[in-house]
Amino acid sequence: MKKLMSNVRLMIQILVTTITNANFKGFLTGTIYRGPTKFACVPGLNCYSCPGALGSCPIGSFQAVANSRDFSIPFYVGGFLATVGATTGRYTCGYACPFGLVQDLIYKIPLFKKVKKLPLEKYLRKLRYLVLAIFVIILPIFIAGIGGVGNPYFCKYICPSGTLMAGIPLVLKNDVFRSSIGSLFFLKMSILVGTILLSIKTYRPFCKYICPLGAIYGFFNPVAMYKFKINDSCINCNKCRQVCKFDIEVYHNPNSPDCIRCGDCIRICPTSAIETPYTKALKNKKDKLGEN
Ligand code: SF4
Ligand code: SF4
Repeated sequence: MKKLMSNVRLMIQILVTTITNANFKGFLTGTIYRGPTKFACVPGLNCYSCPGALGSCPIGSFQAVANSRDFSIPFYVGGFLATVGATTGRYTCGYACPFGLVQDLIYKIPLFKKVKKLPLEKYLRKLRYLVLAIFVIILPIFIAGIGGVGNPYFCKYICPSGTLMAGIPLVLKNDVFRSSIGSLFFLKMSILVGTILLSIKTYRPFCKYICPLGAIYGFFNPVAMYKFKINDSCINCNKCRQVCKFDIEVYHNPNSPDCIRCGDCIRICPTSAIETPYTKALKNKKDKLGEN
């Protein structure tokens, strides 16, 4: 059952990634789709410049609006992030983010001894809030570039998802992009390679330490419609923490901002102590059927 459910998650991840990047022609021609669906944000970190992308990355869109010459408040993106966060929290990270899928697949590579924590783990897990504050909000708004327009600092200098989904395919297929390769491309390639190597050793390092989108959705975990609750049947056996790749003490902190709602803890719990709106509805239905 556990294997089946994690395969279901994998299938959903592949499906979402394929649907949101269905402009397959773009990969062959090395061009970016700019059609009518591009104005809409997708929930995950899905680079706007990926040749397949039909929608826009919310973090990229936020910076694009915030860094415009006459600063505008990105109401649409803010509203979108608040809606996704308030309904699902980081469920999106677990099920609907292409770069989450990439890291999940890399983690399956049977190399290196897997570890749940790196040195200075406690501090590393705070890093994503700094990345969000500095590279997504402060620098794009306050540091003007050429022509008074700010840069999308996170996309430009950090995002390994953008390098993988947009930078590499465009450089491979488009002469103009290839001829403009410079030191920035190599800086971003080294961030991508570092992320890939780290993803073999520890689960989803980018999501845990760097991702500003995960940082935003994580704020919503305790208040989202989809949240966890520990019921009275918990026997403190610690199995949930043992199975959790983020090492979360689920029985103490079921709505940790680190939790991507993968569901592994729910499946391992021997007493069904971890409830979600879905498991609760299922239980109510079963109880009703039992009464009849
Ligand atoms: S696995 Fe279930 S019973 Fe055990 S500590 Fe976690 S929530 Fe409680
Ligand atoms: S707490 Fe549970 S759902 Fe959240 S990441 Fe850990 S195992 Fe997955």
